[in-house]
Amino acid sequence: MARPIILVSNDDGIYAPGIEALAEMVAEFGDVYVSAPAGERSAQSHAITLHAHLRAQEIKPRWHAVTGTPVDSVYLGALHACPRLPDLVVSGVNNGFNLGTDVYYSGTVGAAREGRLRGASAIAFSVDYHADPRILEPTVRALVPAVLERHRDGERHLLNVNAPTAPNNPTAPPQVCRLGRRRYRDRVEKRHDLMGRPYFWIGGPADQQGDVLGEDTYAVHHGHISVTPLTIDDTADSLKTWSDEIDRRFDP
Ligand code: MN
Repeated sequence: MARPIILVSNDDGIYAPGIEALAEMVAEFGDVYVSAPAGERSAQSHAITLHAHLRAQEIKPRWHAVTGTPVDSVYLGALHACPRLPDLVVSGVNNGFNLGTDVYYSGTVGAAREGRLRGASAIAFSVDYHADPRILEPTVRALVPAVLERHRDGERHLLNVNAPTAPNNPTAPPQVCRLGRRRYRDRVEKRHDLMGRPYFWIGGPADQQGDVLGEDTYAVHHGHISVTPLTIDDTADSLKTWSDEIDRRFDP
């Protein structure tokens, strides 16, 4: 049986320490190709570059630095750098959590989701800010073969994994959780440039208030590694509500 092809990407850029650690950790499970942004492209979500050209530089064998977004990197990597479509796309290890509603902003998750949309299985890995990406090693060793086995059987999965700085017990099994609601102390800061014109900084620090048991935010804030399976079908279960509503409003 052919060795699986594993495409590695991230949003912190190809020179970030986390991607090198991830590429090394998955190497035993398949043929590894790396395609990642040439620089920091965090919080790019699922952005794709369709109105400008991209360049890709092979900085070492099978490692391509792409001038675009994380999704551009996976698109190029999957359809151009890899000899065939990858079986697995892994993204990270991100420097900083991607918990709860962060998945809507995260380039790390965006890269993994792009892999899933292209028919691969995918896992996004993140650790607390400045944590050692290697704390995910036992989790990588458990999850990557499991996802690859299921992929061979025709299943497709997209997982989001987060690890706190110092897990209570790094070899303890991760907790499988729902996405939480990531709270931030939202801020809009207005400043003035040298011409006296206003400009703004948005965003604020995370807030751990209101974590709920069973959610990824709660798990990592209590010292556990979290694993959340994600779906790419955003359809809500209110189909019937809206079908009835439309029927009523269009009833002649
Ligand atoms: Mn990042």
